[in-house]
Amino acid sequence: MVLSAAMTTSSFSGRSETAQLTILGSGTSTGVPMVGCSCPVCLSNDPKDNRTRCSALITFRDLNILIDTSSDLRSQALREKIARIDAVLFTHAHADHVNGIDDLRGFHFIHHEVIPCFVPKPAFDDLLSRFSYVFREKPGSGYPPLLKPFLVDGVVEIEEVQIVPVPLRHGKGVSTGYRIGDICYLTDCNGIPAASEKLLKGVRVVIIDGLRWSPHPSHFSIETAIAAAAGLAPERIVLTHITHEVSHADAVKLPGGVELAYDGMKFGIDLQLREMR
Ligand SMILES: [Zn+2]
Ligand SMILES: [Zn+2]
Ligand SMILES: [Zn+2]
Repeated sequence: MVLSAAMTTSSFSGRSETAQLTILGSGTSTGVPMVGCSCPVCLSNDPKDNRTRCSALITFRDLNILIDTSSDLRSQALREKIARIDAVLFTHAHADHVNGIDDLRGFHFIHHEVIPCFVPKPAFDDLLSRFSYVFREKPGSGYPPLLKPFLVDGVVEIEEVQIVPVPLRHGKGVSTGYRIGDICYLTDCNGIPAASEKLLKGVRVVIIDGLRWSPHPSHFSIETAIAAAAGLAPERIVLTHITHEVSHADAVKLPGGVELAYDGMKFGIDLQLREMR
């Protein structure tokens, strides 16, 4: 596999191709239903109210690129019949986005490969302190590393695919969204800096954190997510990282062009392929 995370971007080849993005999980950190809760959404029979922890998969030809290793990675991989993972992108190191990291071991048992992962520097420091054994074999442990880390420091290139990291505000911290072709995936945020908006010019689909109806200090609410995404003028705004405060049936209350994500939701991506050197 050819990959890099470089400050400079390769030129495009002039060829385009279709890829796919699958919402593996559309739920907030607790998942929905939430343990111990008997609210109408947690008791709902609508399968779209069943939300695993937030994650996505990009599929391009036979490449599977995972965004985050959510706490529900195992069940998501089984549900979507994911046979292998070729690369992992991390958005940030909050538990709901990384605690499924050990579920990568099943893929290692079969393919015996160390998977490249792309991780922003603050998240890498955090991951290394919590999951050092995933990156470096502990002497004498006999457990091989699962991931080979590359710090995100510019456009990520995997084969002919260019993925643009998009810095986001996430309460007192930061997270990293990713733009792939004409789609962007902006989970866990409550602000898009002006410089990041420039990176998102011309996107057709914005998948964005739209936690719940009521405000939250580190996530967009439905209202503020729509306002932030509308500034990018996309065809579709898709809200994800949703709590049990929101029923999927509530989607009818949303303005035109705004949808609620659900587990298993799929999108076509129009990709401009880069020139391979
Ligand atoms: Zn989260
Ligand atoms: Zn509930
Ligand atoms: Zn978070």
